[in-house]
Amino acid sequence: LDTRVTVRSTSDEIGSLAQAINDLAFDLQRVRDSRREFFANISHELRTPITYVEGYAKALKDKMYQSEQEKEQYLDIIYEESVRLSNMIGDLFDLSKMDEGKISLQMEWVDLSEVMEGAIHKSVFRARKKGLDIEYSVQDRLPLAYCDGNRMTQVFINLLDNAIRYTEKGRISVTMWQEEDGIKIAVTDTGMGIPEAELPYIFDRFYRVEKSRSRQYGGTGLGLAIVKNLVELQGGTIFVTSKLEKGTRFELTFPNVAETETRGEDR
Ligand code: ADP
Repeated sequence: LDTRVTVRSTSDEIGSLAQAINDLAFDLQRVRDSRREFFANISHELRTPITYVEGYAKALKDKMYQSEQEKEQYLDIIYEESVRLSNMIGDLFDLSKMDEGKISLQMEWVDLSEVMEGAIHKSVFRARKKGLDIEYSVQDRLPLAYCDGNRMTQVFINLLDNAIRYTEKGRISVTMWQEEDGIKIAVTDTGMGIPEAELPYIFDRFYRVEKSRSRQYGGTGLGLAIVKNLVELQGGTIFVTSKLEKGTRFELTFPNVAETETRGEDR
């Protein structure tokens, strides 16, 4: 780093000040590098679907297809890539709001089991299309959690979407229970898993386990970055464990729990 500060001094204080300045400079450089990388990634990620849309639209315009079936395939590609593009723009918009600290959260006491039921309801159709079941179990008398219900829907749908996307056979199971440190939520699948060496990076923006994986499966590479941001903004934590070819498990903890549960009697 060319901004390195060197101090020849016997004084420990000045030495540690120099160290602190060097550390700061190093952090700043890292921020710059990651921002540069982020913009390079955005340009690349946006260009890819646009290239598809452009290419297939032109092919249709020039009647480059051999059959009606082929024409339908081109239209499907254009549609899917447009959806991907629009999802990506939505995700980028969310992330930029989070970066600027401008995301507004409607924090209130929420029954997370109700939120999860809604999210499962929205995902179950996609799961069934792949022949996957979603098992769901929730502990009785789960207390309310202090969070934003709509944002939690987004978090749960993202995790369920990934579980469905990266699982070919078996099942997805969702469990919710309470421990001393808060409410726990686990989303587990029996899918392709993630290599251990890659686990630390999967919450990074645009990070994909295999570059080709996401294209084939239709993701944006931004989902988990958003999930982690949203969970942490609401005071929660998320961690992942996975075994290649066996499956993946995401576990969330929400420590801000109501003292007494208000659901339960009506269960
Ligand atoms: P994507 O839109 O590509 O799914 P995410 O940020 O949601 O992006 O996830 C990042 C990467 O982590 C994915 O591309 C995939 O390789 C891996 N991944 C996420 N969830 C799972 C899962 N349940 N099983 C296996 N791999 C997963």
